[in-house]
Amino acid sequence: MKLYSTKNHELSVDFETAVFNSLPADKGLYMPTIFPKLEATLMANWEQKTLPEIAFDIAYTLLKDDISAEDLKAIIDDAANFEAPLHPLAHDTFVLELFHGPSLAFKDFGGRFMSRIMAHFLKKEQKEIQILVATSGDTGGAVALGFLNVPGIKVTILYPEGKVSPIQELQLTTNGNNIEAIAIEGTFDDCQALVKQAFHDEELNAKLNLTSANSINISRLIPQMFYYANTYARLKDQYEDIIFVTPSGNFGNIAAGMMAWKLGLPVKRFIAATNSNDIVPEFLETGIYNARPSVQTLANAMDVGDPSNFVRILDLFNNDLSALKEMLSSFAFNDEQIKKAIVEVYQTENYVVCPHTATGYLAVKADQEQHPKQKKTAYVVLATAHPCKFPDVFEELNIQYDIPAQVEELYQKVNQKKSMNNSFQDFKAHLIG
Ligand SMILES: *Cc1c(COP(=O)(O)O)cnc(C)c1O
Repeated sequence: MKLYSTKNHELSVDFETAVFNSLPADKGLYMPTIFPKLEATLMANWEQKTLPEIAFDIAYTLLKDDISAEDLKAIIDDAANFEAPLHPLAHDTFVLELFHGPSLAFKDFGGRFMSRIMAHFLKKEQKEIQILVATSGDTGGAVALGFLNVPGIKVTILYPEGKVSPIQELQLTTNGNNIEAIAIEGTFDDCQALVKQAFHDEELNAKLNLTSANSINISRLIPQMFYYANTYARLKDQYEDIIFVTPSGNFGNIAAGMMAWKLGLPVKRFIAATNSNDIVPEFLETGIYNARPSVQTLANAMDVGDPSNFVRILDLFNNDLSALKEMLSSFAFNDEQIKKAIVEVYQTENYVVCPHTATGYLAVKADQEQHPKQKKTAYVVLATAHPCKFPDVFEELNIQYDIPAQVEELYQKVNQKKSMNNSFQDFKAHLIG
């Protein structure tokens, strides 16, 4: 696969370069220069295939010049080793549960695939790298658990002391081995600033092979296409049309779905659900993209004021707003609406959705008001995390849920948390050791 930059379509780099650079030097984002078509004959018998088998069909379509079929299959079998089941609700609506991986959020698909892709290329070159990530919650857990014991890679994760949920913190701090978690006295922005400064520090870069693992890395997007395709395989014989509803923050998850559609996956439309950070719904309505500081909401993994992957979506449509609007709708919901939706799903369906997933449920309702529902159309809401990662709201609403086995295990492990103030000199000294 060759990739260009959204800021320079003349650029052409190979997949390995894009994975280790994360971003092109011009600060655009990497996109595949061509989207080879998935053959209809290939998709025709997908209902007989498993998620990893379908994942292989997608990945091999893109990466056949970069990784051998045998290696790619091994990477996928190891990375996509948990289920993504559909939970049916009333009125042909389904919840796609993406929270059965180690960190209980959809980001496990990206984290596990990226780590194994990096290890694959590093083995060939016998290199070692040091990954630095700042996290406000879910990214850190997926990266920590995704990279745990992956050879050739050391990971340091910075998170703001006291500002992540207890389960999120344990996912970061109980790993040991090649994963180090540091609680910083400060905010997420302080953590992010330390990481950025490290990437710009000449001495550090001379001593360590620093790499980022953030959500704009193309190797995190590819595995996020897998579950859109797998869902199509499960529903294609019962429904004529599928509409995907993706709770969105940085718009990586929905960008991956739209890339799968660009490869030829039959999807009727996409809907991006947001919380009060409504930059994209506003843009689709007014044509004005007004980035602004994020506001804090109950769906905090979506508190993003300048969604970094949205340029990828614009690039897919050559910045043609009216073409984009045919394929993408977007709705925003505030905390009160989110709480009401959680209660409504609980009472009518006896099912518990996390605050992020609740925005997706609300978006289905909003979309059906605008488009009377057609027979044979399925709405699929991506459930991005397990409710237990966001316990406060459920306590307030007095709603109970089952605790997954992954969480029971966390409490058996030793917390190996380190703490640090937000001084760059101390952080640098620590990294150099
Ligand atoms: C990261 C995250 C999102 C947002 O995903 P994007 O790809 O950034 O749009 C939504 N929900 C949860 C639970 C997340 O962790």
